[in-house]
Amino acid sequence: MELELKSLKQEPAHNQPPKLVSIVVPVYNEAAGIKEFYIELDRVLKETPYVYEVIFVNDGSYDASQGKIELLAADDNRIKYIEFSRNFGKEIATTSGLNHATGDAVLCIDCDMQHPPRYIPEFLDKWKNGAEVVVGVRNQDEHEGWIKHAGSFWFYLIMNQISETKIEPRATDFRLMDRIVVDEFNRMSERNRITRGLIDWLGFRRDSVYFDTAERAHGKASYNIFQLTRLGVNSIISLSLFPLRFAAYLGGLIIVLSGSLGVIMIIDRYIIENWLNFSGTAVLANIIIFLVGIILVILGVLAFYIGNIHQEAQRRPLYVIRRKRL
Ligand code: UDP
Ligand code: MG
Repeated sequence: MELELKSLKQEPAHNQPPKLVSIVVPVYNEAAGIKEFYIELDRVLKETPYVYEVIFVNDGSYDASQGKIELLAADDNRIKYIEFSRNFGKEIATTSGLNHATGDAVLCIDCDMQHPPRYIPEFLDKWKNGAEVVVGVRNQDEHEGWIKHAGSFWFYLIMNQISETKIEPRATDFRLMDRIVVDEFNRMSERNRITRGLIDWLGFRRDSVYFDTAERAHGKASYNIFQLTRLGVNSIISLSLFPLRFAAYLGGLIIVLSGSLGVIMIIDRYIIENWLNFSGTAVLANIIIFLVGIILVILGVLAFYIGNIHQEAQRRPLYVIRRKRL
C-alpha cells in the first residue's frame, strides 16, 4: 500500500522551495497553555523539512488568549491569527482556519495538548507518501468517563447505520489535508457542520496516525455532555435524512396496524356478530390511534419539505471576524 501510494506522487525537483504547511489551531479560553503549546509545536516543526505558518483562530475567548496570541505573533511572523467577534464553536473556528490557510497541506490540531504535536512528523510522512487526508485516531482512552464512552459508542453505532459516510470510531479532528482537499472543503457552505464529517464525505486517499491522548494540560474541556449531545445530533441531521423520514415510517406502520385492527372490528361487529366482543372504548382507542398515524405521516411529509428548505436556507456568513493578521 505504502509503496503504491509513493509511486503515485511525483518526486519534487531538487531545487524547489520547501513546501508550506499550515497549522490551524482553534482556541477557546486557552490562555494558560497556549505558549507552552506553541513552544512544543515549534520544537517539533523545526525538525521537519517544511516551512510553516500557524493560524490561531480565537473563537471568542473571554480570557487572555487573544493577548497571548498577539504576544507570540509579535516576534514571529509565521504566526497568524483570526479573532472572532464571539464564540462560534470549534467546528466553525476550524473551518475559518481552513478558509484562510495557504499551505500545500493544512494540519488541524487542538491546543490543549490532547493532540500531541510530537506526532506531526508522522502525519507529514504519510502525506509525503501520497495520502491526501491523514486522520489522527485515538488509541483507547482511559481518561474519558463512562458517560462519554457510552455516548460515543451509541453515536457511532447509529451514525454508521443511517448515514452514507462511514465514520471510524475515535477518529479525531487532529488531521492533515492536502491542498486539493482543502480547496474542496472550502466549497462547502452549510452552517450545521461537523468538520470531520465533511472531510470524511469528501473521500480522497486516506491514511491514519494512531496516537495516545494525554489529560488536558490546562483549563477544562469546553464541551459538556449537553454540547456533545448536540454535536452528535447535529452530525446525524447534517449527514442524514433518516430522522426526517422516521416520523413518516412510524405513521405508516401505525396506519397499517390500526387499520387492520379496524377491519377486524368491523367484521366482528357486522358479520360474525360479536364473537370477539370489542368494547366501545377499544374501538374508540383504535380510531384515535389511526388518526395519530395519519398525522404522523403528514408531519413526515412536512418534514421533507422543511428538510429541503433547511438545506437551501444556509446563506448567513458562517462566522464574523473582529480582527485578523494573515
Ligand atoms: N474550542 C473552540 N471553540 C469552542 C470550544 C473549543 O475553538 O467553542 C477549541 C479548544 O480551544 C481546543 C479544541 O477546540 O483547542 C478542543 O476543545 P476541548 O478540549 O474543549 O474539546 P475536547 O478535547 O473535549 O474535544
Ligand atoms: Mg481537549
